[in-house]
Amino acid sequence: MNMFRARLTLIFMALIGASVLAVGIFMASMLRNSYIESLKLNMERELRIIMTTVNMQQTGTEEEKLEFYTKQAELLKKSADARVTFLQADGKVLGDSDRKASELESHANREEIIEAARDGIGYATRYSDSVGKNLLYVALPVPSGGETVGFLRLSMSLTEIDNSIRNVWFVLLGGLAAVFALAALISYRVAFNITRPIELITSVAQQITDMNYKYRVTVNKKDEIGQLGTAINRMADSLQLQMERILEDESRLKSVLENMISGVVMIDREGKIVLLNRSAEEILGFSSMELLGKRFDQAKQQYEFTQLIQECIESREHIRDEMVFYFPSERILEINLNPISQQGQDWSGLLIVLHDITAVRRLERMRSEFVANVSHELKTPIAAVKGFAETLLAGALNDKETARSFLQIIFDESERLNRLIGDILELSKIESKRIPLQFSPIHLAPFVHNCINVLNAQASAKDIKMTMEVPGDLYMEADEDRLRQILINLLSNGINYTPEGGQVSISVQHVPSLTGLAEADQVRFTINDTGIGIPKKDIPRIFERFYRVDKARSRVSGGTGLGLSIVKHLIDLHKGSIRVESEVGVGTTFKIDMPLIH
Ligand code: ADP
Repeated sequence: MNMFRARLTLIFMALIGASVLAVGIFMASMLRNSYIESLKLNMERELRIIMTTVNMQQTGTEEEKLEFYTKQAELLKKSADARVTFLQADGKVLGDSDRKASELESHANREEIIEAARDGIGYATRYSDSVGKNLLYVALPVPSGGETVGFLRLSMSLTEIDNSIRNVWFVLLGGLAAVFALAALISYRVAFNITRPIELITSVAQQITDMNYKYRVTVNKKDEIGQLGTAINRMADSLQLQMERILEDESRLKSVLENMISGVVMIDREGKIVLLNRSAEEILGFSSMELLGKRFDQAKQQYEFTQLIQECIESREHIRDEMVFYFPSERILEINLNPISQQGQDWSGLLIVLHDITAVRRLERMRSEFVANVSHELKTPIAAVKGFAETLLAGALNDKETARSFLQIIFDESERLNRLIGDILELSKIESKRIPLQFSPIHLAPFVHNCINVLNAQASAKDIKMTMEVPGDLYMEADEDRLRQILINLLSNGINYTPEGGQVSISVQHVPSLTGLAEADQVRFTINDTGIGIPKKDIPRIFERFYRVDKARSRVSGGTGLGLSIVKHLIDLHKGSIRVESEVGVGTTFKIDMPLIH
């Protein structure tokens, strides 16, 4: 824009300059010509007048002739106000008003003389060395009896005309300079009033094109350009608003996509992956950097998955499937493939939604296993009760001794059944978190003493010694009933799995937090026995429901296989942790850490 304007101005100025110069040259030559023309006429007239008064046939010696004509010339110069020269027919100078005739060479070959001899009058303009000026020469032949006897020549300086032409030039050039100055001023004004605002508007428009919406045109006029500026500003406002809205929508959509648990992958018409959210990256084990822009069949995905996409592209119908993925980790995925249709297009790509249903499937499996386990566990005592009752009915009642032992078995089994059902109900209650914990301060020494008392009878029946070691001033915050359940379960297991004459001990310690914050202090319960111990391979599984290391022995001890599972759940609810150390034949130690306060 600027360059263009500058070039235009230059061309404009050059045109003005050239035309002024042309006018100048034309005027100067016109002026000179007409001046010379009128000067010529005047001089010719003067010459003719002079001619009537001059005698060109003066006689006498050369000297006398020279003197005579020189005098004549000087005399005439006064009235004609021009240089006067008398010449002989052969061109020799006889007299000159301004120069010594004797010193002048022959003028026979001067232009005006040759012309005068030929045409009857001769003119010439030339720079005269002898006078040092531009001169106009006019010469007339002097006739006498049909013969040319000499020439009379007038010469006048052209200094005057040259001066006035110079003046004309001064005026013209001055005018030109003034025109240029004016042009510069006008172009500046024009630039300031029109070009500059337009340039500003253009640059703002350019910024808008480059998506910089914060620029505005400063409008301080109400003319068309001002209106244009206002319109541009309004456009920028609305664009900015729209852009903000779009960006807001986009970021909202993006955060939805990014925070979705499901993986989302979008494939365009050409089969290229164009979108991949964070969950999809995680599920597929590839970053979007690696996958975006790639064709789906070059994305190094599991063969069946690629096949499924191909199938959906071909059928353009919704497909739902479940598939086990082995990379980056083994998991079960629910895959939903949806063809996307956009307005005006029958098909614009494919949207794939991936759900990780590993946990759901695992839970389902666990649940059905649990149901199977429960039925199995319930069946065993019921079968025993039923079998022994049948035998009694069939006649065993008569044998008092046998009948008694059978009834004892029936009683034991029903007792076991009762415990089992009690434990199952308890576990399901805890798992479903139907009963919230009731935290209260517990003075641990009397509390633990009380738990041991409950189990005293059981322990002394097996001649097992029970000991406790609890600081007398230790208090903690916990659900009293649940904590009792935990300790009694573990102590009772200790008694159950310890041979006669063994020992079961419990100790409690206050463990100050490493951070120094009292809120993070812990209480550690250590329950130790000198029992049969747990084999290493079973340790990771003992907290599972119904898991028993030795079914037969557990049966003898009347265990349900649910005790540790319940303990683990209750400790979790207290935000605590439990660890086991055990050596077969030596004993087992359970360590529980729980927060001192909640
Ligand atoms: P159970 O009702 O059979 O005792 P638990 O869930 O309480 O069920 O325990 C699971 C299994 O862990 C038990 O069957 C037993 O084999 C083992 N176990 C638990 N506590 C001890 C212990 N103190 N010493 C040895 N084995 C134990």
